[in-house]
Amino acid sequence: MTARPLKVLLVEDDEDDFILARGLLSEIDGRTVDLEWVANYQDAVRAIERGTHDICLVDYLLGERTGLDLLREAMAWNPAIPMIMLTSQSGYEIDTEAMKAGAADYLIKAQVNTDLIERSIRHALQRSSVFETLRNMASHDELTGLYNRRAMDGLLKEEAERYHRYERPVALVMLDVDYFKTINDSYGHLIGDDVLRWLARLVQETARTVDLSARYGGEELAVILPEMNSEQALKMAERLRRRVAAHPFSFNYGGQPCHLPVTISLGVAALPADALSADKLMAAADQGLYAAKRAGRNRSIRFCDLTDISESCERKARI
Ligand code: GH3
Ligand code: MG
Ligand code: MG
Ligand code: MG
Repeated sequence: MTARPLKVLLVEDDEDDFILARGLLSEIDGRTVDLEWVANYQDAVRAIERGTHDICLVDYLLGERTGLDLLREAMAWNPAIPMIMLTSQSGYEIDTEAMKAGAADYLIKAQVNTDLIERSIRHALQRSSVFETLRNMASHDELTGLYNRRAMDGLLKEEAERYHRYERPVALVMLDVDYFKTINDSYGHLIGDDVLRWLARLVQETARTVDLSARYGGEELAVILPEMNSEQALKMAERLRRRVAAHPFSFNYGGQPCHLPVTISLGVAALPADALSADKLMAAADQGLYAAKRAGRNRSIRFCDLTDISESCERKARI
């Protein structure tokens, strides 16, 4: 199977230099090159924002702006994008500034040849793939593959900001495995881990593709539901709860097939009806979850349906 062509964006305001670069970019690492040329800063920003290129080569002088400005703007938006500065301006200062701004390399036009540019692009692509891997590790939970708590806090804040800017609602479901400690105590931590992986898969299968699922803590998961109010989110929560309760977790225990019933409790809240900030939305969903536990577990409770204010006060006292 042949690899797909490498999509290269060339930001260059001089047509002769574009023709020169095009001549050098016939093949990279055995892949043909699909080259797009943009000649000014604004077109470059739009092309980078489309996010369809594998790599971007940027000239230094671009009319009123510079390639450094473009690098900084692109890096703030997506620090994983590999960018190489390709310029006739040689100098230690531009070189170091380009590096600081996030350039993968700095090449001087008069010195560049096919081999040099090929190697530079290969290294930039490798560096960017390592960056992607690290970024993914930093935002995901290793056990379940869901977003981790830090990523979830950020995503929920973004959703809250989206509400304040565009008035788009968002709901949050917090869920916690019932009597999970008993599962660990009876079958061991490794089986407990398998239950968490299984649950995470069920959550992802039940949620829409736009929903964001996270492992919030030990056996506590959360689902951010953009564009949903609490009534719609309750329906999703109930669908998930029923699904978990209806399918015992099956595993092998001491050579014997074992079918373990698992249930979850869920709390539901929505922005703007129940809260106006990410923190308050979280606290509201958490109160619904706590009420579901107190009411006997294996159920979903919306924050807006809570009538017993003393419940939340009692919770605070416990914390
Ligand atoms: P409740 O119905 O009130 O939620 O009871 P519970 O037993 O589920 O709650 P509790 O908070 O007492 O227990 C949670 C347990 O989850 C305790 C902890 O050891 C376990 N746990 C936390 N993280 C992990 C993990 O990554 N793997 C496994 N196997 N267990 C974990
Ligand atoms: Mg120029
Ligand atoms: Mg629990
Ligand atoms: Mg818990």
